[in-house]
Amino acid sequence: MNTIGTTILGYPRIGPARELKRALERYWAGRTGEAELLAVGKDLRARTWRKLRDAGLESIPSGTFSCYDQVLDTAELFGALPGRFTRLGLSPLDTYFAAARGVQDEPALEMTKWFDTNYHYLVPELGPDSRFRLTGTKPLDEVREARELGIETRPVLVGPVTFLLLSKATRPGFEPLELLDELLPAYAELLSALKAEGVEWVQLDEPAFAADRTTKELNALTRAYHVLAKAPDRPKLLVAGYFGGLGRALGVLARSPVEALAVDLLTEESFVDAVAAEGALRDKEVLAGVVDGRNVWRTDPDRALELAARLTGTAEHVSVATSCSLLHVPYDVEAENLDPRLTSWLAFADQKVAEVVLLGRALRGEPVDLSAARAAVADRATNAPDEAVHERLAALKPEDAVREPYADRAARQEQALGLPPLPTTTIGSFPQTTDVRKARAAHRAGALGEAAYVAEMHAEIDRVVRLQEELGLDVLVHGEPERNDMVQYFAEQLAGFASTEHGWVQSYGSRCVRPPILFGDVSRPSPMTVPWARYAQSRTTKPIKGMLTGPVTILAWSFVRDDQPLADTALQVALAIRDEVRDLEAAGLHVIQVDEPALRELLPLRAAGHEAYFAWAVRAFRVATAGVAASTQIHTHLCYSEFGEVLPAIDGLDADVTSIEAARSKMEVLADLSAGGFERGVGPGVYDIHSPRVPGVDEVADLLRTAAAAVTSRRLWANPDCGLKTRGYAEVEPALRHLVEAAHQVRAEL
Ligand code: GLN
Ligand code: ZN
Repeated sequence: MNTIGTTILGYPRIGPARELKRALERYWAGRTGEAELLAVGKDLRARTWRKLRDAGLESIPSGTFSCYDQVLDTAELFGALPGRFTRLGLSPLDTYFAAARGVQDEPALEMTKWFDTNYHYLVPELGPDSRFRLTGTKPLDEVREARELGIETRPVLVGPVTFLLLSKATRPGFEPLELLDELLPAYAELLSALKAEGVEWVQLDEPAFAADRTTKELNALTRAYHVLAKAPDRPKLLVAGYFGGLGRALGVLARSPVEALAVDLLTEESFVDAVAAEGALRDKEVLAGVVDGRNVWRTDPDRALELAARLTGTAEHVSVATSCSLLHVPYDVEAENLDPRLTSWLAFADQKVAEVVLLGRALRGEPVDLSAARAAVADRATNAPDEAVHERLAALKPEDAVREPYADRAARQEQALGLPPLPTTTIGSFPQTTDVRKARAAHRAGALGEAAYVAEMHAEIDRVVRLQEELGLDVLVHGEPERNDMVQYFAEQLAGFASTEHGWVQSYGSRCVRPPILFGDVSRPSPMTVPWARYAQSRTTKPIKGMLTGPVTILAWSFVRDDQPLADTALQVALAIRDEVRDLEAAGLHVIQVDEPALRELLPLRAAGHEAYFAWAVRAFRVATAGVAASTQIHTHLCYSEFGEVLPAIDGLDADVTSIEAARSKMEVLADLSAGGFERGVGPGVYDIHSPRVPGVDEVADLLRTAAAAVTSRRLWANPDCGLKTRGYAEVEPALRHLVEAAHQVRAEL
């Protein structure tokens, strides 16, 4: 059998210097034409393929490049973009971007998280009348393009079942999976075309099976690969399952006539045993995903080889691979200026490619030198623990996570704060003006001295406080001008974190994030936000709300150490935040918000893991916030549209006030919350900050009335959906004015 051999399931595409991001943004701004944009993509692909070949991979993926998103690529490939975009009469590229970004009057496709990563894909819209035709040539084009460079590749496609499972029905009651028999012929046609092009292997990604799936969905998987295997004249098929074990889908795929399977051996401990025990893999190649595709740690070569070796005998051939695409890690750790010891513990995409190659040779029994890798892993294990942090963790008592009963707190807070019914507030950040950004950048670069920087920030805080007083808001904020990002800002000040300079990872389209690296025990050398908050409070007699990011969100948006349970890491962060919360209280802040917008993001893909996750996530939040007096009001903020699964946890957080995204869903979340017996303060967002639209007074008042009907009105707050930092003052001022006026109207009716 001609095997695949050592490979990676995918590679970053935004460019080591974010070349694609810049090219896209220039194109969208109308500053360059299509030819320039396509040339940047072509150059990036060529550089990637050459690099992967030179590194010594035995199989090189193609098709992992995308101008925006691989799910959107798939919809386009099979002629399944909604008519509202194809009817616009735009060029194919602009039709694609219209679906990705929307155009005047035609909203973009919805965007949602790619499983439990921080990547977001575009959700295809499918209905009973959807038809599929192979209309695109992207996979073929890329095969030819690589071949011109003398490189044979393995096209990577989103698998048909995952594609349908990720799509959204355009009609209630319809399931896109019903379209499977419509879709399979289009895939089969593509497979034949690829075969005719001389392609030997094709990779079909089916990560949807790392989550719980019904029998019907598993049957669809069976059917899909039996049908595709029968395609006349097809390349050999590799099905990739990742982001977890495959559960029952393992048996389904093992018994299907595909030639190879890629499995993630790192996410679920017991899955390697399941694979090793799967008799039906005997005539297949198995790609053992033993190099973590989504975290940044150097691979322990002995553990990786041991995992892969456990599969020998199970499969006809075992090869080394990444656990998933490398899309989720930055390019190259050598580009960073980190502490050399920390650097030696890390592996970004390029280092992981080298690891795969080296481990592949070792697995074949070739003599390879693993000493550097072993030494680095051993050195990381000797990283001195911060004993004080461990002692504090060990000494934590259950009561440290418990506050007085809510009713008592509510009474004390009413006394202390004297707020009117239906109080008004905002979520924290105010628009980040060019001046603010400039001052921060200059300070960072050393061009603006500390005193001058503080003066500029104080002036900004003064402006924001005065504006809020003038608008008549009840609980004010300082506006967060000093923060680049709600996680980065804290990571830069906490011990145990490192920040990268070039470690960008694609979040969606041209947007990238630079997650900090949580590498050691976490502690807080000194207060992080207290001087800003104290200053703001000194400028007004109204209460200022202190503003912090919660432990779960800090973890969710960082690369986190993998050498201790997440729950312990979360508690370490929680203790640091707890100190900050108490210092804010001591500085005279009687309202403190701890944001957890990412509470849902670390939710395990399988329901079996939910309870344990919520237990530690909720405990971490409560440890962070339970150190204050009953009279201090703790707020939290959540913002993602699908609340269903986290609803029970919201109650568990025991915050006095929860502000929650609700404007777009027209307050639906409130009914769910009330039905669950939630009785504490709640501020459903009544101003959609994702849109430049300024809502009118009547519209906001109506939303507030709907909300008031759903919850005990005494506990209702009025606030926007989220922070205002991405908006401009031209929209924010009138919108907040309307919000306050609407709250006053509805207040009078209560
Ligand atoms: N306090 C943060 C802000 O206002 C919250 C941001 C968020 O929820 N993503 O910007
Ligand atoms: Zn938010």
